[in-house]
Amino acid sequence: MKKKLFPTLLFNYLSFNYLFCFVFLGYTLYPNKILAQKNNNQKLPFELTRIEPKEWWVGMQNKELQILLYGKNIGTAEVKIGKSDAGNIKILRTEKPENQNYIFLYVDLADAKAGKFEIILTKEKEKKPIIHTYTLLTPEKPREQYVGFTPADVIYLVMPDRFANGDPKNDVVKEMNPKAIHNRNEPFGRHGGDLLGIEKNLDYFAKMGYTALWLNPPQENNQPDQSYHGYAITDFYKIDARCGTNEDFGRLVKSARQKNLKIILDMVFNHCGSEHWFIKDLPMKDWIHQFPEFTQSNYRLSTTVDPYVSQFDYDKMQMGWFDRHMPDLNQRNPHLATYLIQNSIWWIQYFGIEGIRMDTHPYPYPDFMAKWCEAVFREYPNFNIVGEVWESSAITSAYWQKNSKNAKNYNSNLPSLTDFPVSDALNGAFNENDGWNTGLSKIYYALVQDGIYPNPEQNVIFLDNHDVSRYATNTGKDLRKIKMGLAYLATLRGVPQVFYGTEILMEGGGDNHGKLRGDFPGGWAGDKVNAFTQEGLTNDQKDLQNYTQKLFNWRKSATAVHTGKMMHFVPDNNVYVHFRYNDNNSVMVLGNNSNDPRKVDTKRFQERMKGYTSAKNALTGETITNLSELLLPAKSVTILELMK
Ligand code: CA
Repeated sequence: MKKKLFPTLLFNYLSFNYLFCFVFLGYTLYPNKILAQKNNNQKLPFELTRIEPKEWWVGMQNKELQILLYGKNIGTAEVKIGKSDAGNIKILRTEKPENQNYIFLYVDLADAKAGKFEIILTKEKEKKPIIHTYTLLTPEKPREQYVGFTPADVIYLVMPDRFANGDPKNDVVKEMNPKAIHNRNEPFGRHGGDLLGIEKNLDYFAKMGYTALWLNPPQENNQPDQSYHGYAITDFYKIDARCGTNEDFGRLVKSARQKNLKIILDMVFNHCGSEHWFIKDLPMKDWIHQFPEFTQSNYRLSTTVDPYVSQFDYDKMQMGWFDRHMPDLNQRNPHLATYLIQNSIWWIQYFGIEGIRMDTHPYPYPDFMAKWCEAVFREYPNFNIVGEVWESSAITSAYWQKNSKNAKNYNSNLPSLTDFPVSDALNGAFNENDGWNTGLSKIYYALVQDGIYPNPEQNVIFLDNHDVSRYATNTGKDLRKIKMGLAYLATLRGVPQVFYGTEILMEGGGDNHGKLRGDFPGGWAGDKVNAFTQEGLTNDQKDLQNYTQKLFNWRKSATAVHTGKMMHFVPDNNVYVHFRYNDNNSVMVLGNNSNDPRKVDTKRFQERMKGYTSAKNALTGETITNLSELLLPAKSVTILELMK
């Protein structure tokens, strides 16, 4: 830098003198010509290339709006509000960070109405300013009508790149990386699935009894490689062109709603892709966590509740990078915090999504995450958010649920979380013989921990997801075990979530992410097997798919398992019995984990069976008139609707 300093200064000095002579002489000789040049040809020394968010709404609870202005040297501009038919727009603050390519403009919308107003960027009076016309919209519906998923829903998790290719033309987008579509046999490449593929198959989801779709992030992931999963976002406001367009996403949300399917969008606030435009030109040094050398998170969520934790471990968990190509965002930077909060509100307001699944929820600063949830629910009191809390102990999981009692008096404001303790139990139970704390007792003990959750019925429960070994793999493709798992998913407290393909025995181990996120058969033209039509499925696959369909369609109207109370009885001799009940309905669920049929004397369950004289098998429709002794098939779960 020092070497260059002198020649640069000298050049500036000389050029200034030349310029001065030229301007002076020119002005004297041809004054009109020079003035005309000033107005038309002399460009301002800055540019405006990006504005986020592109639009906003009036009538929001939070009246303050951050507008990010980006462009070369824009920080040297003066900012004014010009003409407005959107009411009185007041500038609260114009914040210019150390990188001159950014301005964070904060405006007050308290007196705003729907319409347009000008943002004027200027520097020297005689030069034509840059004028951007900003739009304020009226919300489509009252804020109370932006509803989220509930325990009455069944969530189906779909990875957009791997479900169905609705538009082969968008498989490769020239300007994006990688430049070529990967062979579909390449587990870590892009396979071409997209939003249109999901939209074309809405009838399949509805038919199966799923009522909500959680999509792994379809937001732009323009990374050199391996970003088919969506968790390395490079533009928070844009659908990845390989998945489709923002318009496609909006249409998907609307078409899904017509079929009573809710769309839950995955979001990531902990990190973004290394190719994100603002990472390549950081607004300020503390926008991300930076270290002298690459520092990775220790991924230990336990550090957030551990009474003996060291500051070293705690900081590493919060500030370490998730991966080399995923810079760790610093949500304690107030501009970034506001940016992220507004981004989530924009997706809800613009598209009407019906839920957010927040990735790596405990990894950003807990104080920020609590503030974020509060801000979302302040705008949309009936919305819902599930945070990914990948932790096998209930005490650590429960810490993250709204109103939890904990030593730090931390309140996350987060209604729902991913229930890994129950998932672990459902993955272990059927592979074991029943003992004091093995087999069905695993499920029993997992639920005993519920006392620590403020709202266990809000937990999202699952057998598998895009990060862990598939259920078919974990159960050795034993149809009986998989059906048991699904039956518990449908009847335990919580919001069930099914991973795409679980219903057709798709396999894959957690040690190979690319493979466990296989393509859904039938989603690609020319697929020999088609799970949408059952063409080419094995008998086992068909059987399981039919079972899943029956089970979750039954659940749609089973109000007792949505919101009813729960009572269970200590597992005994390989049999575990639980009830879900409300004033009008009572569901009795009997699990037999033994390899033999079991005759069960129901005397010990009288507390909940009193007054009932018969029952209907929820899946077979069979009526049972003798409730004193029930016959349970080997390795099975029987669901009975009790009748008076
Ligand atoms: Ca495609």
